[in-house]
Amino acid sequence: MTAGAGEAHETAILTIDLDALAANYHRLRELAGTAECAAVVKADAYGIGMAQAAPVLWRAGCRTFFVATLTEAKALRALLPDAVIYVFSGLLPGTAEIYRAHDLRPVLNSLEEIKEWAEYGRSVGAKLPCAVHIDSGMNRLGLSADEVDAVSATRDLWPALTLSLVMSHLACADDPDHPKSGTQRKAFDRLRALLPQAIASLANSAGILLGADYAYDMVRPGIALYGGHPRRQGPNPFRPVVHLAGRILQVRNVAAGETVGYGATRSFKRPARIATVASGYADGVLRALSAGDDADGLVVSIAGHAAPVIGRVSMDLITIDVTAVPEEHSRRGAFVELIGPNVTAQEFAARAGTIDYEVLTSLGRRALRRYIGG
Ligand SMILES: *Cc1c(COP(=O)(O)O)cnc(C)c1O
Repeated sequence: MTAGAGEAHETAILTIDLDALAANYHRLRELAGTAECAAVVKADAYGIGMAQAAPVLWRAGCRTFFVATLTEAKALRALLPDAVIYVFSGLLPGTAEIYRAHDLRPVLNSLEEIKEWAEYGRSVGAKLPCAVHIDSGMNRLGLSADEVDAVSATRDLWPALTLSLVMSHLACADDPDHPKSGTQRKAFDRLRALLPQAIASLANSAGILLGADYAYDMVRPGIALYGGHPRRQGPNPFRPVVHLAGRILQVRNVAAGETVGYGATRSFKRPARIATVASGYADGVLRALSAGDDADGLVVSIAGHAAPVIGRVSMDLITIDVTAVPEEHSRRGAFVELIGPNVTAQEFAARAGTIDYEVLTSLGRRALRRYIGG
């Protein structure tokens, strides 16, 4: 990677490949078979930028979108005037009017929310669309089995609203052998039969990979769109979308016995050549990627050569061991791949003891953002 025109002063560049995003959407649509493939664009499209991602997904054929909050939904409505937009967080007291004003659909999580939505619909004389979330075993959001029973017995609720979607969420879909997915699917089938007929949706990205039994009428992928690895094992069927590169600011030689960085946590057993790279935890290089004397950290890539982080990750900088990297590639100004084809977001996450979801949503706002394709 090299700096483009006007980028000579940039210390870190975050490249977001919108063609890869579109390709991942098409791949998911294939995997979804006859089910509609929606897109989850919460948390600023998992950190890559909803303003850029949403129009690309729309042009790729996506018509239904999910966000977490009403604020995200309003921003998305401004981008996509004709999309169907659902909001996972549901109906906070007194927000029904905002939903209607922006043509948004709440994912209702309790009997109380359903009643409030129905009452609001009656008050404005409209059968407003909404989703109902059934909790099939995750115990996080949605109606419990008891509540579904109560709702199904409350006959006068349904004529006051339009149930456009019934959904649930899988807890363990990233593990294809986990018995919980099957249990949840059975609970979903039993409980949704108690509600009026509506489009059904169960699968997130990992759920889509569980096969046709999990696709129902609509799938809701998030992480796979952005190049994450839903299963965390085996080859990732999706294309990387995010590339993070930082530049070498300085190269130095250290003698055996010297230490590097805050806390002097790594000492050198032999002489080494080290490079200081302009990226740190403010750029999303998590501090947990530090390497001390008794722990390894992130391994970055320079022109295809592996280079381990040594010492602590600080706010703006990391230090890497470039003893084995040819000098032509490890000189001042050169780019180092922190996330990309050689250092996957998945591997980056694993070395920090987390998951690629958190890596993507933790990307800082300081690096130059460069959108390509789309
Ligand atoms: C975030 C979210 C998704 C998307 O999940 P991925 O694992 O990123 O595909 C789908 N459904 C619900 C309810 C979610 O909260």
